[in-house]
Amino acid sequence: MTDTLLIKNGFIVTLGENNRVLKNHSILCEDGKIKKIAPTKEFTEQYGTVINASGKVVMPGFINAHMHFYSTFVRGMGKAKPSANFREILENLWWRLDKRLTLEDCYWSALIPLIDAVKHGTTTIIDHHASPFAARGSLNKIAEAVRKVGLRASLCYELSDRDGESIARDGIDENIDFIKRCNSEKDGDPNGPPQLKALFGLHASFTITDRTMEKAAKAGHELETGFHVHTAEAKSDQEYNEKNFGMRVVERLHKFGILGPRTIAAHCVHVNNREMDLLKETNTAVVHNPQSNMNNAVGIADIIKMSNKGILVGLGTDAMTVNMLEELRAAMWAQHLLHDDPCAGFMETLSTLVFNNAKIADRYWDTKLGSLEEGYAADIILMDYYPPTPFDESTFPGHLGFGLSQSFVDTTIAGGKVLMEKKKLKIDVDEREAARESMKLARALWERF
Ligand SMILES: [Zn+2]
Repeated sequence: MTDTLLIKNGFIVTLGENNRVLKNHSILCEDGKIKKIAPTKEFTEQYGTVINASGKVVMPGFINAHMHFYSTFVRGMGKAKPSANFREILENLWWRLDKRLTLEDCYWSALIPLIDAVKHGTTTIIDHHASPFAARGSLNKIAEAVRKVGLRASLCYELSDRDGESIARDGIDENIDFIKRCNSEKDGDPNGPPQLKALFGLHASFTITDRTMEKAAKAGHELETGFHVHTAEAKSDQEYNEKNFGMRVVERLHKFGILGPRTIAAHCVHVNNREMDLLKETNTAVVHNPQSNMNNAVGIADIIKMSNKGILVGLGTDAMTVNMLEELRAAMWAQHLLHDDPCAGFMETLSTLVFNNAKIADRYWDTKLGSLEEGYAADIILMDYYPPTPFDESTFPGHLGFGLSQSFVDTTIAGGKVLMEKKKLKIDVDEREAARESMKLARALWERF
């Protein structure tokens, strides 16, 4: 009885295949999962914890399908040279930064956005990590931070040939070791909720030689894992592939067997019809990151077209934020501009976050995520919200984009554990202490930069 958790009196938005808005209902959670959703009057027993969600909307925790924890230490750095294009942004900033990361940096730079994620109601994160001179052991360090905070994460190491052969070898080995660890643990900690999953990480087609790509593909296939790869993020990726490999980015990934239902192709800003068809045929998930794409001035992915072709398109933030509703709004405006149409793709865009990210997570986690249904993970958030206009299934999308997105997350629950309640963190981390430690490490890194 003590580990039961009852959430009562809120407006419940279930999301999932059959989205419903339930009033006068309660949710009972037990052993990290949702045990029962029913009219409140049916819950008459004593429960371990009772949360009163009056004045709140109760929803599944958000899922971020493309993230880079390690980018934390860039905040305010301003040391990189001005960059004229995407390639220069990588060379002047990101590839200089990741080379200087230590294992300790990996842990603390992950801990900070994980804490922020709890505050913004994001309970599952699919991360892509690079620290070429501290590659080995880096994913275990990040996993430690994930466990500490109590969220779910899929981790991978960003394999690339840009730092030479032995570092590429490290990248492959780091992926292999972490995938094996996650496979052997199945649902993560046998005593806790399933938290950690793994993918085989590849930076991008233009930084990986045929030889390395072949090795990565072989290792990934042997481990029966999917890949997580930046795909046609900038036009220069296509130009490089056409010039050096005689084919388009997606065609090259397909040639090596990288695509498939367990693979995430992040960005896909510059993919043509043929490439979209390949993504569809292979059932590869595409993850859209509009704020990052606009920030890097690389363009806007045509997610309406991809959705209409039947490609599963999810939403990530590429480390621009952990606030998924902020990213969702940017995605909406970007499609309007791209299509020169103020009504373009509202539902296609909304679906990336509220429906499709759950379908992507479902390809990795054994526990069902992203919907409030019996048997699903108790990954639940409460947001402050008194609906000022009618609130039901048909109006919910508008409330999410224009009301809830302007509100605050009050309570975050992951795997049945309350990680934040009434905006107070209840995790095993002192936020102020973590920021102090991060600042110390960031300062040292800036000096090495
Ligand atoms: Zn990225």
